[in-house]
Amino acid sequence: MSGHAGESNASAQAPDKGAVTVVHLYPREMSIYGDLGNTRALLSRLRRHGYAPRLHDHHPGEPFPADAHLIVGGGGQDSGQARVEADLAAIAPELKARAADGVPMLMICGMYQLFGQAFVTVDGRVLPGLGILDVTTQGNRKRMIGPVVMATRYGDVVGYENHSGSTVLGSGQQPFGRVRVGFGNNAEDATEGAVTHQVHGSYLHGPILPANPALADALIATAVQVALGRAFEPGVIDDTLADQARRRQIARLEADARRGTPKLSDRAARVRRPRTRPRTR
Ligand code: GLN
Repeated sequence: MSGHAGESNASAQAPDKGAVTVVHLYPREMSIYGDLGNTRALLSRLRRHGYAPRLHDHHPGEPFPADAHLIVGGGGQDSGQARVEADLAAIAPELKARAADGVPMLMICGMYQLFGQAFVTVDGRVLPGLGILDVTTQGNRKRMIGPVVMATRYGDVVGYENHSGSTVLGSGQQPFGRVRVGFGNNAEDATEGAVTHQVHGSYLHGPILPANPALADALIATAVQVALGRAFEPGVIDDTLADQARRRQIARLEADARRGTPKLSDRAARVRRPRTRPRTR
């Protein structure tokens, strides 16, 4: 269950719109670069919209919960992906059935790769995927690192990518976004991520949901329909700061891209380059 600080004090104005269960897949093995922030954002927004969020952390070897209304998974090292591989195969029928039923899911980076057909590591090891998304990923020596701006059905989305895997979409597979800044799936076709039914795969960390509330609420709206069989009734949430931050980030990154300014990661690499001459006094 969620252990959100201060939650118990809120019982006087307990939410009464109904309970929604968020399942976080493999929070120990697959949750790097702040991806836990996606789970926290969903719980917090559900609560502020007036629903009663429940969190179920799914760990390898445990049974998959019967009530899974919104399923999230994060990024991880290749080694973390290998550690969850067997459990993912065990719960594959549950995940496939829920995907077909329209349960919303958000899988970031390493988990996105495992929701595809296969991930072939840079050392040539093949990790078979669930095949819910028709994508195939090949690991590379060179990583794709930096900020991303992309157009999606939920509006412009910003985030940060850091992956060695290069992902190719199957012929009928819809991408999640069209990249305007950054590498996306493979640095070649301007696609980012993939969407099938309500299953969203993406390389974007950030974490993506706090920076892009419209995406968070789209997932929540579908989850409410799945959980309660009725339409999402949003509460009033002031997203002014998140919206301003996102718009400024998009403007700055697009201006940098137009000017050909090196990416932040390149600039950081230059700053950290060791001195070649001894310091003069
Ligand atoms: N190991 C994968 C890659 O580098 C996933 C990385 C991640 O989840 N951040 O492509």
